[in-house]
Amino acid sequence: MGRCYSGFPHRKTWAANGESASGVLCYYQRRELVSTEKSQMAYIIAEPCIGTKDTACVDACPVDCIHPKKDEDGFAESDQLFIDPVECIDCGACVPACPVSAIFAQDDLPEKWAHFTEKNAAHFGR
Ligand code: SF4
Repeated sequence: MGRCYSGFPHRKTWAANGESASGVLCYYQRRELVSTEKSQMAYIIAEPCIGTKDTACVDACPVDCIHPKKDEDGFAESDQLFIDPVECIDCGACVPACPVSAIFAQDDLPEKWAHFTEKNAAHFGR
């Protein structure tokens, strides 16, 4: 059993995957790091969704990471749909499904809608 920087014991450490002992990240630290990196690559739903909420993207998503769905609490109150940046696998399947072109890869998100990155993540408490 390995130990992370805080001394908390974990079953896995990143040393097992070839990193030096001085740079060891425990399994949970590494998972958190990957999630942070991933949140910078996820697809984002921006302003055109507001007031539209078509939900065709929900049906297109293979990992069920777009919410709220029509049958979920909060759908009526939410002004738009959101993509969970941790669960999104960056497949792009939702992009052509959207009738108002509201979904963008992080790198393609227009600057004027940059704040939608945080808005999507915040919906999921990320
Ligand atoms: Fe879902 Fe793929 Fe769109 Fe991410 S990019 S929200 S995984 S359909």
